[in-house]
Amino acid sequence: MANASSGGITGEKIWLDGELVPWDEARVHVLTHTLHYGLGVFEGIRCYATEDGRSAVFRLPEHIRRLFDSAHINLLDIPFSQAEIRNAVIECLRANGLKAGYIRPLVFVGDGAMGLNPADNPVRVAVIAYPWGKYLGEDGVENGIRAKVSTFARNHVNAKMTKGKTCGDYVNSILAKREALMDGYDEAIMLDTQGLVSEASGENLFVVRNGMLRTPPLPTVLDGITRASVIEIARDKGVPVEEASVTRDELYISDEVFLTGTAAEVTPIREIDRRTIGEGGRGPVTEKLQAAFFDIVSGRERKYESWLTHL
Ligand SMILES: *Cc1c(COP(=O)(O)O)cnc(C)c1O
Repeated sequence: MANASSGGITGEKIWLDGELVPWDEARVHVLTHTLHYGLGVFEGIRCYATEDGRSAVFRLPEHIRRLFDSAHINLLDIPFSQAEIRNAVIECLRANGLKAGYIRPLVFVGDGAMGLNPADNPVRVAVIAYPWGKYLGEDGVENGIRAKVSTFARNHVNAKMTKGKTCGDYVNSILAKREALMDGYDEAIMLDTQGLVSEASGENLFVVRNGMLRTPPLPTVLDGITRASVIEIARDKGVPVEEASVTRDELYISDEVFLTGTAAEVTPIREIDRRTIGEGGRGPVTEKLQAAFFDIVSGRERKYESWLTHL
């Protein structure tokens, strides 16, 4: 009963407004402003078990920096320092005994005034950590997923502030994701308001053609930390990368297409709109970058040690 409301996700403690509270006590009032209008920001972070028997959070400072940037874009003043939130992430993992898992920091506007000027409402912060496997499935990571180009456009860059992970903006992503699932696909690829490929519902997208990697440029996409990591890994491995527009038909004729994100990690796409991509599985460039990514997060690649914050 206690956890029925959290969809099976459960744990010991949640960090709320500066302290660890019992999981079932991390509740809010229905007047919580964010519930009504979606003004709030969040992060998604992963912690991995590393080869040396320890655990490490992947690119923790970058994620917390982006949380504060998202808040700044939305005029939300977080009443904690970045260091305090980084510590909260570590505390939360420890308090729940997690060696690996997903961490969800959430900045939300508490109750007080209703209406569209919540300037005097409290800005609240929660950090939740729980176990989580592969977002798009083990099979997806190995053999690729099936995607469809969404009928929903990615919000215009001056409507949705694309550099922030803003709660309410994800209605756009949810519409696209559910449409894709109801139509029998695994994921949605969204076009921007000019009709160019932007990203998937919650992942950045890369195409490979003739050994070259291309990903849509920043204006209409979220500045993904996995995206930036993959760009750096590719350059290190001598794979040329460009940030340039991708059209819908270019998706179809790519040798490989893959998605990146904290949730999706590096997941190949084997089919888009019933067109087979390349050989219809995980292509060689995707496999190489994916293997490098998993080596790095599990601490097998010392060169990228600075991307890991050990518990
Ligand atoms: C979070 C997110 C991503 C992936 O970003 P990461 O930093 O790699 O997790 C991509 N697109 C959207 C829309 C997102 O919300």
